[in-house]
Parts: sequence; structure tokens; C-alpha cells
Amino acid sequence: MQAYVLHGAEDIRLEQAPRPVPGPEEVLVKVRAAGICGSDLHYHAHGRCGNFIPTRPFILGHEFAGEIVASGDESNEGLVGTRVAVDPSRPCGRCKLCRQGRYNLCPDMVYFGSASVVPPSDGCFAEYVVAPARNCAPLPDGFEFAWGALLEPMSVAAHAVQRSGGVSGKSVLITGGGTIGQMILLLATAFGASKVVVSDVKPFARSFAEEQGATATLDPTDPDCAAQAAELAPDGFEVVFEAAGVGAALTQAFGLSARGATVVQVGTLPDGTEIPANALLTRELDYIGSWRFANVFERVIELVVSGRIDVRPLITRSFPFTQLQDAIGEATGADVIKVQIENT
Ligand SMILES: [Zn+2]
Ligand SMILES: [Zn+2]
Repeated sequence: MQAYVLHGAEDIRLEQAPRPVPGPEEVLVKVRAAGICGSDLHYHAHGRCGNFIPTRPFILGHEFAGEIVASGDESNEGLVGTRVAVDPSRPCGRCKLCRQGRYNLCPDMVYFGSASVVPPSDGCFAEYVVAPARNCAPLPDGFEFAWGALLEPMSVAAHAVQRSGGVSGKSVLITGGGTIGQMILLLATAFGASKVVVSDVKPFARSFAEEQGATATLDPTDPDCAAQAAELAPDGFEVVFEAAGVGAALTQAFGLSARGATVVQVGTLPDGTEIPANALLTRELDYIGSWRFANVFERVIELVVSGRIDVRPLITRSFPFTQLQDAIGEATGADVIKVQIENT
């Protein structure tokens, strides 16, 4: 099969690779749509992603949907031909956290297309992927592969909203209008937040958020920002999602939070980022981490099917499989939410 193999920084090559063979309880999925994530861009730009340094060349990508074309054992033969989205989490299934249902925290987690393990695990920027059968969520009729490839980041956003303890009837601030921030906007709106405000330095992110139903947007570089925020939420925001992964955004998130508010950290901050500890103390903030996701994949499918959220505007552009390089270039540029590749 053909696969995109990352050899180092700025060195991704379309190569002939052996088609993987499914084992027991596994299926072979023909990849039909795959999304490019910020972490893929990090690996591509630097040859690594934070502390995750690949020990050998590997195939990137973890957001995907496709069709089951073969099964590793007879019990799953009936799945052949099924259109599915694949949950890229492969936890051990045996440890305490797995048994508690918090498998996103499994210390032995293997994620598709990630160098968090040695050797790195191959991902979905390939013609075929082997996946555990139980990771494959069937897509309802009319549910496009491209939407299926959005389920992983949508699940990250949905997990963050769950971690907040609920947004219904509450004022919500999202710092960072990237993919996850915009998805949290859609979900918080669907879940009945009284107002959802998105803060981002980029005009594109702000106008996109307004098109997606944000109550208002803030430009953190605008000297009037604090006054505008005070007008929108005089006592501060009751739930704040920090989705920018920037220290200044965290400072803003704490600064605009209400007394007793919940602040959810979903963006990856640089090591050593300062946390405004005295605001946390005196406002009795609940500062909560949200890492990947657990148990929400199929719920997101239902939210899309029911029409509660419309994911279509999130896909900025789609490229043919043969043009991953161009797709990465597009995804690296400004003014994009999600860039995908598609295969026939
Ligand atoms: Zn991702
Ligand atoms: Zn585990």
C-alpha cells in the first residue's frame, strides 16, 4: 500500500509500505478521510512533538474514517463493508484507570500515529490501517467519511465540556478559537450555555466563531477587551475553556473568570507556564485538566445525526490522498479550521 512516512523534520515521503494484517479482534480499514491535527503539524515541522521523539520513521495521522475491508478473525467477518469512524485510543484495558472507564489516562495508552510509545505507532496517512474491531464506530447512512474524521477532535472538545461539569444556563468563555475552541463553541451552544464568548487574536477565528453562533468575540490585544468582557459578563464567566495553549490566554482565562468558576485546560501549554495561583485561591476556582477523551465518541455521532451540531463548516478544505504535502501546507497557514485528505 501507499503510506506517508515521516523520516524527520520537513521530511515526509509517500512510500510503498506493507499492507498491515489484522490479528484476532482486529479489522483492516481502508482510510477514506483523514484530518490533519496540530500535533501532526508539530511532528512534520520539528520531527517530534513536544517530548514525543520518534525512534524510527513512522506514519502520522489519528483522525480518520473509512471502510472495513477485512477481518482478522471469523467473528468479525460480518463487519466487512461497514463504514466506520475509528477511535484512535488503544488503552491496555486492564489497569485501574481503564477499569474505572478513564482509559484516556491509561499509562500504557497506544494512540494511532504517535511517538508517545517506543517504537512509535503508525497512523492513518496511509491507504489502510489495522484497528481493533471495538474501536470502530459504525457511521449512519448519510454520515460522510469526512464528518467521521472529525469525531476524534470533536470528542476532545466534548470531553472538555463534560469535565467542566456542565455549561447549561451558564456564561462560557473560550480562549483560543482554533479547531478545538470552535468545536467547544458548537457543543456549549448545543448544551444550552446562556452565552458563549470566544477570545482569539486572529480576526479569522473571531469571525468564524461569530458565524458559528458565538454570542460575542473578544480580541485580547484590544485595549478595550477587559471593558467589553465586563459588559458581556459583569461578574465574570462561570465556565472558561483555555483552548489556546498560550500562557497569555491562561492569564486571560483566569482574569475573566467569575468567583467560583470552573476553568478547563484543554490546550497544551509550554512547560513552565505560570498559573495565576492567587486568582485560583481567592476566587476558589476549579482548575481542571482535560486530556484526550473517553466514552464520548458515539455521543458525538448522535449530536451530529440529530442536527444539534453542524460540523460541515469546520472542514476548511479537503485534498486528494496524493496531495498530503499540499494539505499540510494549507493546514499550516492562517485562516483554516480543519484540513483533510480523502481517498477513493
Ligand atoms: Zn488530533
Ligand atoms: Zn490501562
